[in-house]
Amino acid sequence: MTSQPEHAETASPPKSIGRPFALDPLFRPLTALSGIGPRNGKLLEKLVGGPKILDLLWHKPIDFIDRRYAPTLAEALPGKTATLTLRVEKHIPNTRRNLPYRVRCKDDTGSIDLVFFNAHKDYIEKNMPLGATIIASGKVEAYQGQLQMVHPDALGALEDKDSIATIEPIYALTAGVTNKAVRKAINSALPAVPCLPEWQDAAYFARQHWPVWDDALRTLHNPPGENGLSPLHPARARLAYDELLANQLALSLVRYRQRKVNGRIYNTNGPHRARVLAAVPFELTGAQKQSLVEIDADMGSDERMLRLLQGDVGSGKTVVAALSMMNAIDTGAQAALMAPTEILARQHAQSLKPWLDAAGVRFVILTGRDKGKARDLLLQQIASGAAQVVIGTHALFQDDVIFSDLGLAVIDEQHRFGVHQRLQLASKGKGVDTLVMTATPIPRTLTLTAYGDMDVSRLNEKPPGRKPVDTRLMSQDKLDEMIDGIARQIAAGARVYWVCPLVEESEVMDLAAAEERFDILQARFGDRVGLVHGRLKPQEKDEVMEKFARGDLSILVATTVIEVGVNVPEATIMIIEHAERFGLAQLHQLRGRVGRGGDKSFCFLLYSGPLSDNGKARLATMRDTEDGFLIAEKDLELRGSGDILGTKQSGLPTFRLADLSAHAELLATARDDARLIIDKDPDLKGPRGNALRHLLYLFERDQAIQYLRSG
Ligand code: ADP
Ligand code: MG
Repeated sequence: MTSQPEHAETASPPKSIGRPFALDPLFRPLTALSGIGPRNGKLLEKLVGGPKILDLLWHKPIDFIDRRYAPTLAEALPGKTATLTLRVEKHIPNTRRNLPYRVRCKDDTGSIDLVFFNAHKDYIEKNMPLGATIIASGKVEAYQGQLQMVHPDALGALEDKDSIATIEPIYALTAGVTNKAVRKAINSALPAVPCLPEWQDAAYFARQHWPVWDDALRTLHNPPGENGLSPLHPARARLAYDELLANQLALSLVRYRQRKVNGRIYNTNGPHRARVLAAVPFELTGAQKQSLVEIDADMGSDERMLRLLQGDVGSGKTVVAALSMMNAIDTGAQAALMAPTEILARQHAQSLKPWLDAAGVRFVILTGRDKGKARDLLLQQIASGAAQVVIGTHALFQDDVIFSDLGLAVIDEQHRFGVHQRLQLASKGKGVDTLVMTATPIPRTLTLTAYGDMDVSRLNEKPPGRKPVDTRLMSQDKLDEMIDGIARQIAAGARVYWVCPLVEESEVMDLAAAEERFDILQARFGDRVGLVHGRLKPQEKDEVMEKFARGDLSILVATTVIEVGVNVPEATIMIIEHAERFGLAQLHQLRGRVGRGGDKSFCFLLYSGPLSDNGKARLATMRDTEDGFLIAEKDLELRGSGDILGTKQSGLPTFRLADLSAHAELLATARDDARLIIDKDPDLKGPRGNALRHLLYLFERDQAIQYLRSG
């Protein structure tokens, strides 16, 4: 994605103090394992997604090879993987380079050749000396009437038989790391796995017939045949539940803390609200009014608000945010609005300006771009309260940003901020109310993992005047026809967004693709075409967007930067190249840029074939519906939870052991469980509470514990 959040790494977790000693072996670096040095350690770290032994232990097998079949040669079935006990009879070195070295072996019932290409003689003589008894495991084949095994997967001496003739787990790998190396590392890590106090609810645990934690981990890596890979296998289900419980408990703790600090009672529906309402040039939709009723109820009570305002692109969240902020202003407090990117922050400021001006509310914008004297001046205005509304990015988190009296934090997050970042802003005032706005229509299950039991207001009704967008799928081969069609539309005054594909998530490559398309279109349409991408300075970006908004440009070629909230009601055509490379949620967001004015709008999804069945189904979903929630559900179904909605980019929590398409029920249980825990033992002081602390540290949700501490 081209528009990156500012300072994505700012919120580094507080130092992990108080971690139970029992967990230490799991938090040692991979290099503490024998045979893992700095070099292969780096590769292994990349593979397992983290530097510590626990990361390795959570790298779960994706398949297995059953080597328990140990027949005599007379019984051995060609085509099957077998573990054979053999006597080395004869070495038959190759006579030419491209021929194999053969090692003829026997047992009491027959003979077989072990076949090696490019073999080192030393290696063979050392591992398979004449007369020795060896164990060879691999696929048995019949070749010209003779049994053979090409490059056995495993070779050993007789005493290795028990360790070879097992079910061998197969792991996802990366260049430079073999399955054997992963297994070896895991096998040397497993003995150090501590036995931990049980954090599951005793009754539930007994009903599930789950293994204890360390047993579950051992079983994970020694799958007992086929069903050992099933997400519903007791060992895997247990580990998945642990992860979901850690997620839900951390969210519940945070929420409990936030609730415990008394909120303030804000004056709702006061004079500033009235002035903004008078300046808004449209009637609020029913959904907007309802959301405001809910927000006012929260803000008017002494409980702290923690509310999610969920609404599709274009559903009109901004005005709801503005009207909510007026409650703070009418109480003499300040309000902050934080966006994930600079461009979004500026757009918010632009949308709010007329309303804030009309209400006589002073506001400032603070982003990472502000430096030196200019920044100092802004900080002063924030600290003195001269700035009543502060609009900004991550820059608002910085320690030297001190509010005179922050009352409401509105976070337009598009999933890019984490829970503790939200808290960080809320901690800049006393009893700050928080409203989180999100445009990604995520399914209920995901809302739960990202926000826990937050209160939710939904803008499920679009502002009037929005027409359905006619969505069509087209092969990329038809590009020329497409351009001819566009030429006619432009001549008739149409305005067109032209989105270029995401190439391997590389900004440089994205840009090349967009520039190439720009050149081609410019050759035909001259200065009616503009280009906007993430490398432009914000000011340059704004200029191009502005020209498009004014109608000085007919075609705006863009990388995905336009995803973030531009509003040009006159644009009626959206073209997305290589649509198959985008996530459904992203396509939905992009399409939401058109159909905002009075004219009929179109969205062309260009794909380059051949598409997989899944790819076809995904694009068909886009063609058939504009309901963001339906699209999100479909996305979950078609992609599995591995990369729902491009979770990696979106900042939604990702799970290592849980798979939301298989473990949705466990998630619901974990939510209820977390709620009960908080009811009974909010400080996690009892025996189960103590065990649960282990769990939170295990999943690095210990920030929740830090909050507990500072409570
Ligand atoms: P979101 O942030 O939810 O994507 P915006 O707040 O940017 O949506 O609103 C999209 C557009 O719809 C804006 O031009 C806004 O002024 C307009 N709008 C919002 N609410 C209404 C309404 N009730 N009636 C008509 N237009 C509205
Ligand atoms: Mg918006």
